[in-house]
Amino acid sequence: MNENPHGRARDLIGRERVDGISTADHEWLNGHLETCPECVRLAEATDHALQSLRALSVAIPPALANRTQLRVYLRAQDLQKRRRGGWMVWAACGVSWAAGIASAPYVWRAFEWMGHLSGLPSLVWKMGFALWWAAPALLAAGALLIDRSDGERYRTR
Ligand SMILES: [Zn+2]
Repeated sequence: MNENPHGRARDLIGRERVDGISTADHEWLNGHLETCPECVRLAEATDHALQSLRALSVAIPPALANRTQLRVYLRAQDLQKRRRGGWMVWAACGVSWAAGIASAPYVWRAFEWMGHLSGLPSLVWKMGFALWWAAPALLAAGALLIDRSDGERYRTR
């Protein structure tokens, strides 16, 4: 094999944590890590990513791993949500607004760049930006209206 030592180290770092590697490979890898700060950083990043993955799978209750049970859970949530007066829709509204505001400067720049690249008049890309920005808010408002009329139907029953 004529691959470079860093490529071999990267490969071994991944396999060491997933399948395990032979003693000879382990020794070679340790030797390389002693001389190569770049691959040490990669090993640390890999450890960190695996730790986050494990933390994430702990955070999801094991019962929810089953898709059928997840659906039942979501249905129960849905019913609960109606009883609580649709606060989840308000939360979704808030999140979409916050995301819209946070990403607005980047999207503005992206539209500006595309506008210059395609030679469109600035009014056109500014309109595009306004539409992109307003769309999530309109969707959230629509969801809120649907949720409200649903709530009314439940109350009159
Ligand atoms: Zn290396």
